[in-house]
Amino acid sequence: MKITYLGTSAAEGFPAIFCNCKFCNEARALGGKNIRTRSQSLINDDMLIDFPQDTYHHFLTSNIEGDRIKHLLITHSHSDHLYPEDLVLRYGAFAHNMRQERLNIVAGGNAYDMLSKTEQHGITLLKISPFETIQLGDYRVTALPARHAIGTGALIYVIEGEKNILYAHDTGFLFDEVLEFIAEKRFSFDLISLDCTNVDIPISDEGNHMGLPNIRRLVCRLNEIGAVSASTRIVINHFSHNAAPFYDSLVEAVRSDGFIVSYDTMTIEV
Ligand SMILES: [Zn+2]
Ligand SMILES: [Zn+2]
Ligand SMILES: [Zn+2]
Repeated sequence: MKITYLGTSAAEGFPAIFCNCKFCNEARALGGKNIRTRSQSLINDDMLIDFPQDTYHHFLTSNIEGDRIKHLLITHSHSDHLYPEDLVLRYGAFAHNMRQERLNIVAGGNAYDMLSKTEQHGITLLKISPFETIQLGDYRVTALPARHAIGTGALIYVIEGEKNILYAHDTGFLFDEVLEFIAEKRFSFDLISLDCTNVDIPISDEGNHMGLPNIRRLVCRLNEIGAVSASTRIVINHFSHNAAPFYDSLVEAVRSDGFIVSYDTMTIEV
């Protein structure tokens, strides 16, 4: 099982679309792993997570044949995770000879409502609720409530295939009920992908996102309940430009934690 990080920034991108701060200007000059586009990942070659404005760019840069995608999980309705307008291009004169005639889209809350109002062709829209599990081809997908954009039904996902992945973007510190559910179900993760929007900008555990101190506390909790072990890959992802998310400096900042710093196009085999 593999996961490819197609986009690794928060909503504004890095460099941010309209920003002239010193971090963004330095990122423009450095290029490479310091250029971060909006949040999206690919599991194996057939399941996308999120559908931001940058999806088309991701398909070009990572050589993804969009018509082969079978499943799409949506975490929430923010535009860096859901840009439904491009889904309209899945039919007729826009899309010939698709190898997957139907795309399963799984969403909850406001994201589901937005998608249900979008023109649909070749799409099977599936509604998922917090703590619900559905089977999608070879994957078992469980939705859990995110501490993010409260009131909009934002979700994080557990994806069970050959290996088990917890994909937690966007979210603040996991709710107690989520940690209890993970313990109850005896999930044991091979990879966890955690919201690191703030990096070292302080944010409380009740906040909408996390930074490194929150992530360190969360990894301890997940370790205590047996969901994470020494062999679990821990990836930090979804960075704000305000936190100066330069690849090399992030790698240095988490060297002793053993965390993996995501960058656009990074693939991890688990
Ligand atoms: Zn986001
Ligand atoms: Zn900036
Ligand atoms: Zn968000």
